Amino acid sequence: CGIVGHVGTGDALEPLLTGLQNLEYRGYDSAGIAIQNGSGIDVAKRSGTVDDLLAAIDRSRLEGHLGIGHTRWSTHGPPTDENAHPHTDTTADVAVVHNGIIENYASLKTDLEAAGHEFSSDTDTEVVPHLIQHYLDRGDDMATAFRRSIDELAGSYAVAAMRDGEHSLYAARNGSPLVVGIAKDGYYLASDVPAFLEYTDDVIYLEDGDVVELGPDGCSITDATGEAVRRRRERVEWDP
Ligand code: GLU
Repeated sequence: CGIVGHVGTGDALEPLLTGLQNLEYRGYDSAGIAIQNGSGIDVAKRSGTVDDLLAAIDRSRLEGHLGIGHTRWSTHGPPTDENAHPHTDTTADVAVVHNGIIENYASLKTDLEAAGHEFSSDTDTEVVPHLIQHYLDRGDDMATAFRRSIDELAGSYAVAAMRDGEHSLYAARNGSPLVVGIAKDGYYLASDVPAFLEYTDDVIYLEDGDVVELGPDGCSITDATGEAVRRRRERVEWDP
């Protein structure tokens, strides 16, 4: 339902939580965040409201410059804590949030389970971190593993992913909206601009098929064919 992401020089926690609160108007049944805290990826997620999540989190464990967050509107699997996003691979090396539906998740899941991957949710989403892990295990770097995983998905989705120890955030869209916010302190990512308007109104709307990498080296976007593309950077006109 709602996606947020942040990578920058300051703490990611506040912009992520603010972003989730700003997206509450869309309706949701669960909320969660994942942050790189220097010694791993820490995930906090649960069914219920963003306030329920806030009450349950240990802020000291969620310090870091890079993170993703999600408000879920269940399509595959009931609204439980386990089914809330972010989802991780078996080793919690990769975390993913997703909007929409992955139509071919059942066959991907069967193949991944046959290859030894253990799933912990009923969602279609969880195939994504496991697919990324599959390609990382084969020796791909994160950018390649992410692109290859996205290429295997059928359906409509917006996806954001992070890997422990990586300084970039990865995202892709096909049929679900995704927008990048550019600010002095880093990049913001969201399914909808109100998520980060406190922080910036300088945005790039991604197009279907786009894959984006956001990090210390900037914002790089490739289209569905893998070619680097330039997307228009614009100021959002917004009357609250
Ligand atoms: N299909 C995913 C799920 O059920 C994502 C739903 C959403 O867009 O929030 O978890």
